[in-house]
Parts: sequence; C-alpha cells; structure tokens
Amino acid sequence: MDCDQMLNLINHYMDGGLSQWRHRAVARHMNDCPPCADHHNAHIQFRQQVASKCFEEAPAGLRLRISESLGVHPSDGSPLR
Ligand SMILES: [Zn+2]
Repeated sequence: MDCDQMLNLINHYMDGGLSQWRHRAVARHMNDCPPCADHHNAHIQFRQQVASKCFEEAPAGLRLRISESLGVHPSDGSPLR
C-alpha cells in the first residue's frame, strides 16, 4: 500500500466498502503515514460539515437519507461510528 493507493481507497474505506484485508491495509498505512492520516481526518471533517449544513436546510425525510448515506446520526449529524 502506498499513498496513491491509499488516497484512491479512502472513500471506500470510510463507506465500509473495502474487503477486510484492504481495510486493514489502509488502517495500517495511516498508522505509518501521518500525511495520509491527516487526509483521512480532513475527509471526516468535510463529511461532518456537509452533513450539518444539509441538516439545517433539508426536510426530515431527506435528512434521514443523507444521514444513512453518510453514516451519521439523523438528529444532530454526529458520526455513528
Ligand atoms: Zn501515505
């Protein structure tokens, strides 16, 4: 796993769409590579910002769909995991 591969997989990683060994490879890479760990954190923050912005504007049914797709709590946008 190098940084390019890691960045290609980061969205799948956060969506839980990776096979187990790939998921572990990404996690291990982030342990050894602070820039990629920062990148991952930035992705998480970005998702939370998008989620909280959507929650201010979206109707309840849409909020639920967004929260499900982002993996965040429907009431306040906090992460489920
Ligand atoms: Zn890296």
